[in-house]
Amino acid sequence: MEYSELGKPPVSSMRVQPHLADPLTARRGFRWERLYRELDWLPGGHLNMAHECIDRHCKGEKAQRVAMLWEGKNGEEERYTFAQLRDETNRFANVLKGLGVQKGDRVFIYMERVPELYISLFGALKLGAIVGPLFSAFGPQPVKDRLLDSGAAVLVTQPHLRRNIAGILPDLPELKHIIVVNKNQRDKAPLPSGDLGYEELMAGASPQFDVARTSMYDYSVMHYTSGTTGKPKGVVHRHLAVVQQYATGRWVLDLHADKDIYWCTADPGWVTGTSYGMFAPWSNGVTQVIYEGGFGPSAWYQAIQKYRVTVWYTAPTAIRMLMKAGDELPGRFDLSSLRYLNSVGEPLNPEAVMWGVKVFKMPIHDNWWQTETGAILIGNYLAMPVRPGSMGRPIPGIVAGVLDDEYNEVPPGTEGNLAVRPGWPAMFHTYWRNQEMYNSRFRKGWYITGDRARVDKDGYFWFVGRADDVIKTAGHLVGPFEVESVLIEHPAVAEAAVIGKPDPLAYQIIKAFVALKNGYEESEALRQDILRHARQRLQSIAPRELEFRPSLPKTRSGKIMRRLLKAQELGLPVGDTSTLED
Ligand code: AMP
Repeated sequence: MEYSELGKPPVSSMRVQPHLADPLTARRGFRWERLYRELDWLPGGHLNMAHECIDRHCKGEKAQRVAMLWEGKNGEEERYTFAQLRDETNRFANVLKGLGVQKGDRVFIYMERVPELYISLFGALKLGAIVGPLFSAFGPQPVKDRLLDSGAAVLVTQPHLRRNIAGILPDLPELKHIIVVNKNQRDKAPLPSGDLGYEELMAGASPQFDVARTSMYDYSVMHYTSGTTGKPKGVVHRHLAVVQQYATGRWVLDLHADKDIYWCTADPGWVTGTSYGMFAPWSNGVTQVIYEGGFGPSAWYQAIQKYRVTVWYTAPTAIRMLMKAGDELPGRFDLSSLRYLNSVGEPLNPEAVMWGVKVFKMPIHDNWWQTETGAILIGNYLAMPVRPGSMGRPIPGIVAGVLDDEYNEVPPGTEGNLAVRPGWPAMFHTYWRNQEMYNSRFRKGWYITGDRARVDKDGYFWFVGRADDVIKTAGHLVGPFEVESVLIEHPAVAEAAVIGKPDPLAYQIIKAFVALKNGYEESEALRQDILRHARQRLQSIAPRELEFRPSLPKTRSGKIMRRLLKAQELGLPVGDTSTLED
């Protein structure tokens, strides 16, 4: 297959059914290296993500193209061209250099979604530092855990967040500098002694900077992820990741610099907010909307209407919340600019895909990846028929498989462990200071994702559940997704989560937790009605118990925390909850 074929939405590349083929055969004809020439590179074969996302677009007229359309929480607006971003990020790189920050030092960013978050992140990358974005909604303990583990030398933050974490600072001996962004002079109080003011530093910094000659293997970004046990782990990525973020921005998100206004709703504290809220759109030179405010159905529809968003990338939780807000609401806005909808982060229930068709006249395209994978590996492309409930097919260059518990491949249709052959460009390179844990993720030449899935004969992958969340009831292994998808088909159900609850007879029975749509009241009759609906559809794998909850516990990236529901139900320790939403 020639590279030119891959530049198009890659229908042609799907001739290969990678999951069925011998990995080497499937890879024959595809080489990631062929994509390298699509990027700009620095002299001497060096690669720097910030250069690829910003400076490379600053030649000629393109420099004046808008990169960022920012809307603040209070309706403030700012816009930055690629040229302005280049200058601002250069300034910030000079600021860090002036402070003695070196290549490989960790620069952590604890900020709301303001332009300065993006400027400082790319400025730090230009210097060759490793950046770590943190959710602004984190409290002191999660911030401390992450700064301590990473040995961060610099923290960029805002006054109200700085106050939040004042108590942990004496415990962070490696933290040398705190830079405070005093945006819009909202907070005029003098800075605590020793802190540095962003605005003052930037005012004295030159807009000229020679981007660090990082190698493609140098570390660039780290994101902390939480597992079932232990402290969160720092997933470390390399500058090379931008090759795949660029490619999937085109192949899967179908981004075009000349026609698209793109909006990724993810916070940069979560990997989607960097890989697809920064690197994919900007390496493709695409204008993107950055919306500081939180979720709100009307506010979100309003943002699409106002900025004429064409490509939208969001998450199933948000989609279910929009569904909850009703089918009439979108009709009050002009959403005609939308041409392509995408989702990631959790399984997208078939009901949600079909809701897209009903309300937006187009299906929502699901795709799959993880913090560790750095970029999309499996997706439903624009050019491919969507199978509602499936996460799609592997992108070119990716060999995915379903393995039994001995790590041998199983035939299509059989459920097992989702695994991927290592070696894709955005693959993580280590867990920070935890190489042992990193090594444990690889078996028999596969990267083991921790998810359960099956693949059909056409190569579409179907998510079953996190290996930790799978339920065993009366001899059946049941994936929560299947049961939850049926529950949310009930007209009263907005969200559902199921867990396995120990049972002397069935080993586990399925217990459901359900949040209702607006306008529905909890009642015994409704509980019975939902259970009856589930029994009709699922029979032996229907939930036996059902509890109403006003809302379900979720991570900040919108994932329902089934293990928390289970721990609460069984009176067990809840484990790491640092990413739990308030
Ligand atoms: P994170 O590293 O926080 O982004 O979480 C990655 C995990 O989210 C995956 O291992 C899956 O369990 C889940 N996930 C992401 N995308 C999907 C999807 N499209 N369908 C089902 N689960 C998904």
